[in-house]
Amino acid sequence: MNEVQIDDSTIKIGGDDPIKHLRPKVAEESITWRELRRDAFWQNIPGWKEVDYETFISSKWQERNAITNPKKLIKAVQDIASPEFIEDVKAGFAAAPMAVRISPYALALIDWEDPYNDPIRRQFLPVGSQLEPDHPMLTLDSLHEQEDSPTKGLTHRYPDKALFLTLDTCPVYCRFCTRSYAVGLDTETVEKVQLKANEERWALAFKYMRERKELEDVVISGGDMYRLKPDQIREIGHALLDIPHIRRFRFATKGLAIQPMKILTDTDWVDAVTEVTDRGRKMHKEVVIHTHFNTANEVTGISQDAMNLLFERGITVRNQSVFQRGVNDDPDQMTELVRRLGYINVHPYYVYVHDLVQGTEDLRTMVATAIRVEKRVRGATAGFNTPLFVVDAPGGGGKRDAHSYEHYDRETGISVYTAPAVKKGEFFTYFDPLRSLNPDIQEAWHNPVKREEMLNDVVQTAKARYI
Ligand code: SF4
Repeated sequence: MNEVQIDDSTIKIGGDDPIKHLRPKVAEESITWRELRRDAFWQNIPGWKEVDYETFISSKWQERNAITNPKKLIKAVQDIASPEFIEDVKAGFAAAPMAVRISPYALALIDWEDPYNDPIRRQFLPVGSQLEPDHPMLTLDSLHEQEDSPTKGLTHRYPDKALFLTLDTCPVYCRFCTRSYAVGLDTETVEKVQLKANEERWALAFKYMRERKELEDVVISGGDMYRLKPDQIREIGHALLDIPHIRRFRFATKGLAIQPMKILTDTDWVDAVTEVTDRGRKMHKEVVIHTHFNTANEVTGISQDAMNLLFERGITVRNQSVFQRGVNDDPDQMTELVRRLGYINVHPYYVYVHDLVQGTEDLRTMVATAIRVEKRVRGATAGFNTPLFVVDAPGGGGKRDAHSYEHYDRETGISVYTAPAVKKGEFFTYFDPLRSLNPDIQEAWHNPVKREEMLNDVVQTAKARYI
């Protein structure tokens, strides 16, 4: 019998050990989400063999060595990727709606012994042999952001929230980008809507936001705020803080995931963000960063150092992932990502079921897959660190909890959502990829008459069930 002293009481506990391990201990080697790479992984790229840590984490070096066209890509990886893969990438780029841009950090994290299955490669480098025909219901601006736009680059869809697209460039160009209608340079397949960083355009957006007293919440996006200069961050941040009814805003950037060293070495830029967040805090307004990690492989020791610096400055960072086939659509992959983000103080906030985006059908998954993975992830860690899986309803319905469909016809792959607080009385449809459907139904999708019938049937069923 053991005696344990707690405050003034002596408690007698049976057995030799006063602590009972009711749950079996987790094997330490399974706590993989804490194992962050701190090796010189970039030296695997032949041209960067001699690049040391100080050089690699320089934000300027990352910018100077960004891969911005297929030629640079081929030059960087031709000695470590097979000729077949190189040809495959060339074919992929020729068909892509997005311009090419990948940071040295992201390029070096790709497993060049198996690039076809690498989750970072899949996000940024299309390969011709994996492309699938677009879904027949695809439109270029599938979320209808331009339709809900009172002034160029501003979308006002939710009653109290606006999306402010401040510029149209990014530190990388992601294949899955919903804004491929505007982001990056024109490509062989898409002529882009121009949304340059422009003070006159911004002034109109500020004027609209000042006049709309119902607005409390602004997303500053693009493009990507990583490309805003420090003075531009100050100008936008202070202008929004000066609007009395704006209570909170978030700077949106993919940058932390693909170029975290900017936080460590671009002091002016980080100071500008800190200045705005500090002033916001003193005004009791919330200013945070929303970022975009999609796979645990993007999180390294450099990411952790960057997040530690932001954490010390009191800057909250939340994450929004895009659910992608072969990137994070497996429950173990997603759980690892969620735990790893929690470990470095990033809150996993949303997982978006992949929008219908031109040239990315190979990355899309079924709504059913998202629901299955969400069930496995929920409970793996604290609720506030567990992302909500959402469908951004095509047609402008906004984000809907993936489970909350009014009707989901697994045969045709059509799910129907409503958004009463956003667009009352309207029904929004999302479409599973054709590959997940049986061949007869796939064929029916290519027949305009049958397609219309399928859509009508499913929407009518949803309407009949809707309370
Ligand atoms: S960083 Fe964001 S806006 Fe830019 S291409 Fe990627 S997803 Fe699109």
